[in-house]
Amino acid sequence: MNVQFDAALVARYDRPGPRYTSYPTAVRFSPVVAEAAYTAAVAATNATAGPVSVYVHVPFCASPCFYCGCTRIITRNTAAAANYLTYLNEEIRLRGAQLEGARVVDQLHFGGGSPTFLTPTQLAATLTHLGQHFRLNTGAGREFAIEVDPRTVVAADIQSLADMGFNRISLGVQDIDPVVQAAVNRVQPLEQVRTVIDAARQARFESVSVDLIYGLPCQTESTFTRTLAAVAELRPDRVAVYGYAHLPQLFKAQKHIDARALPTAATRLRLLGLAVERLTAEGYVYLGLDHFALPTDELVRAQREGTLVRNFQGYSTQGGTDLLGLGMSAISQVGDAYVQNLKTLEGYYAPLAEGRLPIERGVQLTQDDFIRRHVIQRLMCDTVMSFTEVEARFGLDFTDYFAGELVALEPMIHDGLVVREPQGLRLTPVGRPLMRNVAMVFDAYLQAPVLAGPARHSQTV
Ligand code: SF4
Repeated sequence: MNVQFDAALVARYDRPGPRYTSYPTAVRFSPVVAEAAYTAAVAATNATAGPVSVYVHVPFCASPCFYCGCTRIITRNTAAAANYLTYLNEEIRLRGAQLEGARVVDQLHFGGGSPTFLTPTQLAATLTHLGQHFRLNTGAGREFAIEVDPRTVVAADIQSLADMGFNRISLGVQDIDPVVQAAVNRVQPLEQVRTVIDAARQARFESVSVDLIYGLPCQTESTFTRTLAAVAELRPDRVAVYGYAHLPQLFKAQKHIDARALPTAATRLRLLGLAVERLTAEGYVYLGLDHFALPTDELVRAQREGTLVRNFQGYSTQGGTDLLGLGMSAISQVGDAYVQNLKTLEGYYAPLAEGRLPIERGVQLTQDDFIRRHVIQRLMCDTVMSFTEVEARFGLDFTDYFAGELVALEPMIHDGLVVREPQGLRLTPVGRPLMRNVAMVFDAYLQAPVLAGPARHSQTV
């Protein structure tokens, strides 16, 4: 077994921490680093002619799920989407031109919000426009993914998505219990989920992914056991089980959640333990953090081969690929730059109306950032990290460079989370659910007060 859930240990290490979809994390982005840094990074990386990933953000949803912390706009006005697409198309044109036709898009991801807020016609037109300005890989090796809200589609829509070229699909399920669904304002009968998954199988989608959340109001061990059993029976290729972070001061919709109905900390832990136990018993491989996949899934193969990476979409197979984020609030990662687009519609539209990129802020990586990002990635993706590999890659002496970090790791070594071997570090099965805590030791930006205080990151479990 590659993961073991020790509730007492997990409770002891439960503290706010980043999910490391980037390093430095987005809280370090500043307006000082914006469009010029991005443009320079694109020009520099174009010379490599390497493949790129493209993320397209569709910010609209028809109704608010009360747990949601995403950047989204609640509306039933479909004209809002039509207006948004006009500006998105302009961004596609500007960003595509910067690549000078040099690079192929192997990975495309539509996320949100709800991409299926757009009609199939609008989605198809957006893909056509992307194809006119980017070199989209239309062959078998492409990974074109879309997030689907089962409440907004019928089976025929799923076939339309396949016809457009999408071959991976992910569905928000969260919980199947009607009481929990009512408490979070996301009423979605299991049959709707089954219809989408059956249609995806019929349309030969290569990967079907399901998201669940533990820690929601009214969840109990018995309701969550039923949710896990139903999902196991649907047999998606991937399952993500996120922890709900109740931060109503940050996310307005969460004010509608009755805090008295939230599970206690002890119940939360048991819910997470249930997920780990049930999914691994059903044959899923624990990838890390909150992600599970069937042994046949390409993420498991990538982990075996040491090519798994983390980026803004979570775990991904495309190591070293630059990522272009298009749409309101989307984040790009190119060369030594991370940049984020403006986070309101008005803000996003204004520069595009003048033919400029809608970039608001970002960060440029230092050599120390590159080194630490690599160490954190290897721990979070491979669960082992070789001192000699880091030394050869960056020309440093690991035990010198990270002398303080190796001392800080000692309590975790003592607690059995991680083993220090002559050649490197290895997370143990009980340490794997706590990989964020181990990674945090190598994060130069997490000074002591940040580690101790309430933070802008979710709890590690
Ligand atoms: S959870 Fe998804 S569908 Fe619900 S409000 Fe948030 S982005 Fe929209």
